[in-house]
Amino acid sequence: MGRKVTLVCGKVLGPSLHARVRRPVARRLAKLGVTFLEGPGTKVAEVTRDGVRLDDGRELPSAVTIWTAGFRIPDLAARSGLRTNAEGRLVIDTTLTSVDDERIIAAGDAGVMPDHPFRLSCQAATQLGPAAAATILRRIAGKKASPVRMFFAGQCLSLGRKGGVTQFSYPNDKVNALSISGRTGAGVKEIACVFTLNKLVSGARKASSRGSHGDSTDRVVTPQPEHPTTPSNT
Ligand SMILES: Cc1cc2nc3c(=O)[nH]c(=O)nc-3n(C[C@H](O)[C@H](O)[C@H](O)COP(=O)(O)OP(=O)(O)OC[C@H]3O[C@@H](n4cnc5c(N)ncnc54)[C@H](O)[C@@H]3O)c2cc1C
Repeated sequence: MGRKVTLVCGKVLGPSLHARVRRPVARRLAKLGVTFLEGPGTKVAEVTRDGVRLDDGRELPSAVTIWTAGFRIPDLAARSGLRTNAEGRLVIDTTLTSVDDERIIAAGDAGVMPDHPFRLSCQAATQLGPAAAATILRRIAGKKASPVRMFFAGQCLSLGRKGGVTQFSYPNDKVNALSISGRTGAGVKEIACVFTLNKLVSGARKASSRGSHGDSTDRVVTPQPEHPTTPSNT
């Protein structure tokens, strides 16, 4: 909107994206008039009242600084005395159970399976929640909990209302070189947002219906998306 915008990346622009998919993102940002700084020396060392200082000593004047340096885990697990990783995520096995105490289950951002460290994302969290419930229900029924099965379709980014990029991935969340950009990419992000919202609403409705309580202890909820070909959001 006519303002000068600089995006400071620290390392690379869009570190979770495939190298080829960063190109349409960079093009779109350039078209929107966003200057981005990436590579060595672009880590923020200090945010001051009037700007930002980079670790190579550069000072960037700034009227408004928006700090978007990623997500953090609350310190509950780290303070519990149970094993956590460097980010403070509870170390769990493939049934989402703490490796130190089988009474403790973690879903979403809070837990990490060391061999499958899923990204902090709602795409993972919406699958891990039902899987945690399945583990608990099977234990209550005196059955062995099953390993979680995850499915990832990709990541999508809005870059303004009229542009976006959808990055496809393999089911294990490893990104590939396939992407959709432009208006279609933005459309896919919109679909992903609506899909996620609908999924939350339908999940809440199912949980409160009588039918889901009856034989639920006999059912394994396998965390598969309803529409595997629709990329969820990032
Ligand atoms: C700005 C932003 C944008 C994002 N955009 C995307 C996106 O586009 N796509 C995507 O996939 N992901 C996105 N994420 C990440 C996504 O929101 C999280 O990965 C997801 O919400 C994790 O779900 P969760 O249930 O594990 O944790 P959360 O949704 O964080 O829920 C944890 C809850 O626990 C509560 N809590 C914490 N400590 C305690 C305590 N001691 N006692 C009681 N309650 C406690 C918190 O208040 C919170 O309500 C975004 C995150 C942020 C912050």
